Amino acid sequence: SNLAGVPSSPDHAALGFVVAQVPESERLRVLVTGGAGFVGSHLVDRLMVQGHEVIVLDNFFTGRKKNVAHWESHRNFQLISHDVVEPLMLEVDQIYHLACPASPPHYQYNPVKTIKTSTMGTINMLGLAKRVKARMLLTSTSEVYGDPQVHPQPETYWGNVNPIGPRACYDEGKRVAETMMYAYEKQSGVEVRVARIFNTFGPRMHPNDGRVVSNFIIQALQGKDITIYGQGEQTRSFQFVDDLVDGLMKLMNGGYSQPVNIGNPQEFTVKKFAEHIRELTKSTSKIKYLPATEDDPTQRRPDISVAKRELNWEPKVDVKEGLVKTIEYFQSVLDEGGEIVPT
Ligand code: NAD
Ligand code: UDP
Ligand code: UDP
Repeated sequence: SNLAGVPSSPDHAALGFVVAQVPESERLRVLVTGGAGFVGSHLVDRLMVQGHEVIVLDNFFTGRKKNVAHWESHRNFQLISHDVVEPLMLEVDQIYHLACPASPPHYQYNPVKTIKTSTMGTINMLGLAKRVKARMLLTSTSEVYGDPQVHPQPETYWGNVNPIGPRACYDEGKRVAETMMYAYEKQSGVEVRVARIFNTFGPRMHPNDGRVVSNFIIQALQGKDITIYGQGEQTRSFQFVDDLVDGLMKLMNGGYSQPVNIGNPQEFTVKKFAEHIRELTKSTSKIKYLPATEDDPTQRRPDISVAKRELNWEPKVDVKEGLVKTIEYFQSVLDEGGEIVPT
């Protein structure tokens, strides 16, 4: 995907996007909430290229207009500045409901707003889905498993979440959002899809996002200390954003309505991951150990057998290959904007 230097009147082919001509009978009207964010904007690119009509709804809390600016002039594209906490009337066929801050510093900045976004926001989108009979996909999270005592995590695991800790606004918000999805399915016949997304990275992550991949890459590229929270023995499994978008679209358009883990099982300790990024960036940064954050999950890796069986999906991009692309992206951001201080 193309990011830097979007011209004011973009030539989509020149940007690497070839938009399919789809007969009106096959063209869907697709709503993407949170579509100006990191994951959302990549999903929008794919939907646009397939020739669908795409409506992006975003309040620009963590998303940015420039993530979708290359579509602004396209007749199939519409951008609505709106907060999902407020009701909204639209006519659509499918809803990808992503709106919600995803990085711990962002979702903990205003926990009450995070809770409202996941609860009232999801109810509003479900009310909309019910009224117009749209199929709706929720981007849930591996955080519903909390600090997991089952490893790797299958969808059947009910999780280990602290309901009153600093991560609860996000974790419990997503858990109740899942509950609402299945309540609307049962009670009102809404067609629902639930993706439990594991740590994802790629171009267009906000430089001040505060999550581990962007922090480590930016620190390494600037020769600053790489900050590890705790001993770095905690693990995460990292997936490149293109694989996630594939998985989300297969889930939306398939026939399976139970929750599905979408992630790459390639697992690293945070310490090993820091060393890996230091090597890939050829950086001389030192590693600096900071206090552990409260309730930081000690391990996380998806069991993706359901996605393989039900969606015929598995990740295709090797973590290293994805990191190289992401490093190139952050290098171009630094070249344009100078110094960035990670959160
Ligand atoms: P992001 O912060 O880049 O994107 C979230 C988008 O939602 C932003 O554009 C933001 O402005 C918008 N938004 C937030 N609150 C809103 C509101 N009240 N009304 C309207 N728009 C609002 O994060 P992301 O990484 O792209 O995450 C997208 C979705 O995927 C989120 O639902 C997140 O919980 C989920 N997810 C992401 C990951 C990951 O690793 N990236 C992992 C698990 C789950
Ligand atoms: N809603 C919305 N757009 C719609 C339909 C509903 O934003 O097109 C909102 C509506 O305002 C309500 C929520 O979705 O707050 C849930 O709707 P539902 O019809 O399930 O509940 P009710 O309106 O009966 O409370
Ligand atoms: N982390 C870290 N240094 C950072 C940012 C994150 O050591 O600068 C750790 C964090 O403590 C966690 C892991 O990296 O154990 C993943 O954090 P992130 O915020 O990316 O996502 P999470 O999976 O915790 O939601």
